[in-house]
Amino acid sequence: MMFFTGAGVSLNGKFIAAAGGGIYIPAFLVLLIVIMVVVLSSYFIWLANRHMKKAIFQHANIDDITGYGNYAKFVDDANIMLKYDDMHYVVGYVDISNFKIINDFYGRKSGDLVLKMIADRVHDIVVPDGICARIFADRFVFMVSYLDLGSLEYMVETHLSEADVEIPQTNVHIRLKCNCGIYRVDDYRENINDMVDKASMAAKISKNSVSKMVTVLEKEISSTIVNNQKITYKMNDALSNQEFVPYIQPKISFRDGRIVGGEALVRWISPEDGMIPPDKFIPLFEQNGFVTKVDFYMLEKVCAMLKARSDIGKRNVPISVNQSRVHIYDKMYINKLINTFDKYGIDKENIIFELTESAFTENTDDMIVLIKRMKTLGYRISMDDFGCGYSSLNMLNLLPINELKIDKAFLDDESPKSRFIIKTIVELAHGLGISIVCEGVETDEQVRFLRHIGCDVAQGYYYAKPMPMNDFEKMLDGRMSVTK
Ligand code: C2E
Ligand code: CA
Ligand code: CA
Repeated sequence: MMFFTGAGVSLNGKFIAAAGGGIYIPAFLVLLIVIMVVVLSSYFIWLANRHMKKAIFQHANIDDITGYGNYAKFVDDANIMLKYDDMHYVVGYVDISNFKIINDFYGRKSGDLVLKMIADRVHDIVVPDGICARIFADRFVFMVSYLDLGSLEYMVETHLSEADVEIPQTNVHIRLKCNCGIYRVDDYRENINDMVDKASMAAKISKNSVSKMVTVLEKEISSTIVNNQKITYKMNDALSNQEFVPYIQPKISFRDGRIVGGEALVRWISPEDGMIPPDKFIPLFEQNGFVTKVDFYMLEKVCAMLKARSDIGKRNVPISVNQSRVHIYDKMYINKLINTFDKYGIDKENIIFELTESAFTENTDDMIVLIKRMKTLGYRISMDDFGCGYSSLNMLNLLPINELKIDKAFLDDESPKSRFIIKTIVELAHGLGISIVCEGVETDEQVRFLRHIGCDVAQGYYYAKPMPMNDFEKMLDGRMSVTK
């Protein structure tokens, strides 16, 4: 029993009385109200909890801008799909070339709406059973099964090629260029992030292409790219660990068979991969700019050798060092050269800078300025690989070079026409006071021909292959013989 007395509660009345009055409420009603209050408050707490959990889930799994799953969810879903399915899958990567313009000119809000629109298109590619997500900024990823790759490529192209968007609240239409990379999943145990990396590499190939919107990453390209990534990852350590080693190939005078010079050629001697030839890494280093460091490293090694020899009174011959075209873009290049020569006290006559013919034709004006400055400062210049590019003969007139190196490919062509051209180049160069070196000399016949036409210097396996510096020095000192 319970009843209220005044504002209080009595536990022994049958009715509940309001304060000072005689209103009695049956006890079962009180009980019902209490139960209802408890049930309702529990329900509201549960509802709030659910709401909070949903918000947390959304925050962790949904991309705010597109409303689709985010990258974390994509990875989870992709792992589940690959585990339980035996379909053929591709991972696609989409990147918009000129998206920054929208953010910069029309504001973030417009940018977000455009991203949502592109996300819808990517989503259309994968429905009904594929998955997609925005990774970050204007990058999207998708995974979808396919029966025929050609049809899939076509579908991607039709959904993304006409990405003509209207900027919200303006009448402006912008045509976005979407670049898509596709990676075919071979090994379902491969890490999803690696698959996405490969698809993104393929997207980069599309980005660099004017005509191609979709690139399917082929196995060979994929392994080259992975290999390039490995090299890029290791190159700095390799340089500080002295894994780049200068080899020198002797240059032989046709007149008396003596060593009149040498060309420094880099080798990468890696503890894991053994000796790696320059063709495997120089082109990549030219792309990422690291070649400038390797070139200066080689120059320092050569300067150190020349200085050590001259300190003990030994004969020196000019050593050629290869210089990449990339140096043209470095405003401090000449200052760095001056500092290196000063550091070792090297006579400028003792180094010849080899620049490939294609470097002259690609950036003619900049190259002419650079070469003229170098020449004024007293440096010696050689035009390498002459004959395999398209330099005009007038270039020989414009550029104050000291030496011309005829490319091996020219010599390999034994036709009378080719031989006539070599003979004419030799005469022309001599007429201009330029010395001629023929590269890749391998046979008796070539030696006879070159000697006959008055070529000055030979470089090739016929005489000697590139060798470690020590061996070159022994040969120069007459302690090791040139093979012929
Ligand atoms: P390159 O400057 O034209 O060097 C000549 C290449 O021809 C060398 O290859 C040399 O080993 C090879 N060679 C010489 N004689 C013969 C021959 O009789 N027969 C054949 N088949 N080949 C011969 P290597 O050392 O593999 O160098 C390849 C290229 O790598 C060089 O071509 C040069 O463009 C580049 N390179 C090498 N070292 C450096 C460097 O320190 N810096 C830069 N920027 N490039 C370098
Ligand atoms: Ca060279
Ligand atoms: Ca060459």
